[in-house]
This record gives sequence, structure tokens and C-alpha cells, in this order.
Amino acid sequence: MAKVELKKLFKTYNKKIKALEDINLTIEDGQFFVLLGPSGAGKTTTLRCIAGLEKIDSGDVLFDDENITHDQPASRDVSFVFQQYSLYPHYTVYENLAFPLRSPMRKLPEEEIKNKVEKIAEMLKISNKLKNKATELSGGEMQRVAIGRALVREPNIYLMDEPLSSLDAKLRETLRVELKNIQLNLNATILYVTHDQAEATTLADKIGVLKEGKIVQIGTPEEIYENPNSIYVSQRLGSPKINILPGSLFKLNNTAKIGLRPENIELGNGPYEGKVISTENLGSETVVAINFQDNEILASIQGSYKSSINEKINFDINTNKVLKFDKGDQRIYER
Ligand code: ADP
Ligand code: MG
Repeated sequence: MAKVELKKLFKTYNKKIKALEDINLTIEDGQFFVLLGPSGAGKTTTLRCIAGLEKIDSGDVLFDDENITHDQPASRDVSFVFQQYSLYPHYTVYENLAFPLRSPMRKLPEEEIKNKVEKIAEMLKISNKLKNKATELSGGEMQRVAIGRALVREPNIYLMDEPLSSLDAKLRETLRVELKNIQLNLNATILYVTHDQAEATTLADKIGVLKEGKIVQIGTPEEIYENPNSIYVSQRLGSPKINILPGSLFKLNNTAKIGLRPENIELGNGPYEGKVISTENLGSETVVAINFQDNEILASIQGSYKSSINEKINFDINTNKVLKFDKGDQRIYER
């Protein structure tokens, strides 16, 4: 597969909607790159620009150092998995999977097609459905076939547009794990876009965080979580969400705001006293909401935690883990 680079990419729609502004990123050969951002951030547009489905205003797209910015979509050799299933309804699963291999340009022998289809069906656990029509599948099976149809070829890059977003939570989790295993097995180059933080952290080698058409940080999932460069990035990962509080609350001078992750708060002892607003037992952890000087702070504690509403509660914070931000919501780095 290929290394894919975007250089200074700009894209506007109808001459006024700035969808992408100065996108720079490199997806290494064999890398699982996830673009993470909310709806409207420019995720789909980025994929469509790489596939050649949108005309860009300026900038370059490179595959293995070769500039393909002006190449036709058909000659770019990319596989696209769309957000909505896009199967041929009257075809069987087998024919849907075989379709990308049947292009006249390729002229693969039937035997080879069969081998590839069966291999991919096995990876995606749909071998027993090969004879079914696409319309006879459940939503999860359809999306497996859609992913399989992309993976059956070895293009320059797989482009995946929130392929799991229409599935229920359980299935999404299962397919997420399977997709990561398949990518590792195939050593595939994937650009996967999502607004789902769990997908980003479990799938990605590298995450690019998108905000209003701009990439605001690129890093490993750990780097993005531990070392975000702004409040916006700090809020992309973490559940329950990071606490963003005024710096003055903990007497941190020259710090407009701080970010404090719920797991970095210790309950029971400590110099700070608040009141319990609510507790939520999630099984392996309990999330306790505390009112501290009229600020709501979420703390997460391993296991269960007994307390009643309005009860006084003491707590401490792990100061080494406090993230400091300036007035512009950008990170203040300690020297
Ligand atoms: P995402 O996939 O992250 O939700 P998109 O790439 O679809 O974001 O959209 C980025 C921005 O471009 C949004 O403001 C969206 O409204 C706009 N946009 C996307 N497609 C079109 C289009 N075909 N015509 C006009 N505006 C569009
Ligand atoms: Mg989209």
C-alpha cells in the first residue's frame, strides 16, 4: 500500500463555506490514522479530496511521494467505505465482495477471485452468508460486507467514513476490535474518520484532531490524551469528560483555566471540601459529581463508592496531572 500525504490543502464549497483550511498530514504506509472531530469538522471532505471526488482549491495530494492532485478518481486506486451501506441489493454477498475484483482492467481468474472473497468473508465472519442477497442481511452484516468489499482489494489506501456509526453499541465494539486485527494482519494503510472517541483511541496509531476544517493536533492516542495542546483537544478524549475549571479555584496564578481528569481526583481525604451532587455507579467505576465552590467537578473512583446527596466530601487533586491553559484556551507548558 502507499504513504499518503496532504500538503496545504484548502477546500471551499460554493466559494464561501471553508470546509478545509491548510490541512497537512502524513499517513505512513501500514498506519492506521484516525481523524477525530465533530460533525461538520471536515472529515468527509478530507476523504473525498483524497479520493478525487472533490476538486480542491489549492494544495497537494501525494501517494508515495508522487503528486496525484490532478489525477482522475478512477486512476487513484483507493477503496472507500461510506457511512451508509452502499451494497448492490440484488447481488449476493459473494457477488458484492467480488465486484471490485471484476473490473475489466484487472482480469483476475475466477479461482483467484473466489479465494480472495472467501478469505475476506472469513476475516469478517460472514462466510455463511455468501449466498444471501444483500437485502437479506442485518445492518451489522451489511456493514461487514461493505467493509469487506473495500478490503478485498489492496489499493493505495482504505478511506473509511464513520463505517460503524449506524450500528448499535455492542456490534460497534465487536467490529472495532475485528477491524483493528484485520488491519494489523494486512498491514493496511487506513484513514478512518469518526466523531467517536472510543473508536479513535482503540483503532489509531495516530490521531489527527479536526476543528472547523483545521487540524489542531496530531499524536498517538496517549499523547492526545495526556498532552493536549488546547482545551478543545483535551475535551475530545476521556469519559467522563475532563473538568475545565477556573485556575483561581486551586490558587494557580497566571493560569486562566485548568483541566483536571476525573481519575486524577482522590476522594475521602484532602484539603478541599465540597458536597456530593450525585453518584453514578458504572460497575467497574463510580462517577461522583461534587459541588466545590459553585463549580461542578466529576471524579471517577474505581469500584463502587457509597455516599449520599448533599453529603460533605473531602478530596485532593493530583497536581502533577493538572493541565494549565491560558486565556485563549491554549496549553501553558511548564518549563
Ligand atoms: P464532517 O464529515 O466532519 O461532518 P463535512 O466534510 O461533511 O464534515 O463538512 C464540512 C463542512 O463543509 C460543513 O460545514 C458542511 O456543511 C460543508 N459541506 C460539506 N459538503 C458540502 C457540499 N456538498 N456543499 C456545501 N457545503 C458542504
Ligand atoms: Mg461526514
